Amino acid sequence: PTILAIESSCDETSAAVIRGGRVLSNIIATQAVHEQYGGVVPELASRAHQQNIIPVVTQALLTANVDKSELNAVAFTRGPGLLGALLVGCSFAKSFALGLGIPLIEVNHMQAHILAHFIDDPKPSFPFLCLTVSGGHTQIVRVNNYLDMQIIGQTTDDAVGEAFDKTAKMLGLPYPGGPMLDKTAAKGNPDAFEFPVGNMPEYNYSFSGIKTSVLYFLRDKVKENPDFVQENLADICASVQKTLIKTLLKKLVKASKDLGIKEVAIAGGVSANSGLRQALQDYAKKHNWNVYIPAFQYCTDNAAMIAMSAHFQYLKGDFATQYISPEPRLKF
Ligand code: ATP
Ligand code: MG
Ligand code: FE
Repeated sequence: PTILAIESSCDETSAAVIRGGRVLSNIIATQAVHEQYGGVVPELASRAHQQNIIPVVTQALLTANVDKSELNAVAFTRGPGLLGALLVGCSFAKSFALGLGIPLIEVNHMQAHILAHFIDDPKPSFPFLCLTVSGGHTQIVRVNNYLDMQIIGQTTDDAVGEAFDKTAKMLGLPYPGGPMLDKTAAKGNPDAFEFPVGNMPEYNYSFSGIKTSVLYFLRDKVKENPDFVQENLADICASVQKTLIKTLLKKLVKASKDLGIKEVAIAGGVSANSGLRQALQDYAKKHNWNVYIPAFQYCTDNAAMIAMSAHFQYLKGDFATQYISPEPRLKF
């Protein structure tokens, strides 16, 4: 099948075309409007999606060299995400599918992050464990098949992406903070400072405490030395990043041992983190894992992953009706 897929859950407007499971185009318009506010402003995100959606879809079809008459289905992100942002993609997809007289496919954004692993080789084999780490979620998922997944552990409060972004903000790094923190950390000593992190039962996480501990740490240090942050920026970044990664991997190791699964993947925006990618490689050697790390372009939000999920759903005959609406807290 040839499918057009649309992603609009947060602050990237993206469209992709997939044919026979092969991604032909993946156009992403990242919204710069949020930079000046240091975070995503939902109302502004909706408006930017509304402006971007037609040019982005047009470009996706052009790049793929596919005419809309060749499409077999239109897919969109139903959730989770910001309601106003999701509405733009959902409404567009519904109208487009209705106009073309072709089926509609609703995609779960978090499942799609995982299915990004099936865009390129090497592909994980089932069952595998996926640590999904993004701006809004932190999950350990047992993936039994393309569309059969179970969350076995997750964060009880903040997502790890939030911990990255909020720490970066406290350090005065520009939005979006995660990638900047990563870059700065590369020049620092990860053992310079110690930060405590919550220990939750089973395979669960807690990342709200670390931001408070960073806040108090900085407050105390700046009292002694007003230039503390500037003088130690790289070391602070490296130390916080190390703590977050250690916490993430500890539970992943536990899950892998308990379930006896050595196929291990990471997905979501934070899987672009260079420290996490390196640490996963190191753990792979130590624990005899086969690890799967997505290409950078498929870590953060993109429509190619939505298209990949839509492809498998199409083969299963999993279609939506025109009565569908977005679900900001969509679960799986
Ligand atoms: P969700 O997928 O949970 O709905 P989202 O779509 O906003 O949330 P993604 O686009 O998947 O999230 O990921 C964005 C997050 O990834 C942000 O928190 C961002 O800071 C983080 N991120 C991106 N690159 C890096 C990096 N190199 N290091 C650390 N964090 C990063
Ligand atoms: Mg984003
Ligand atoms: Fe995402």
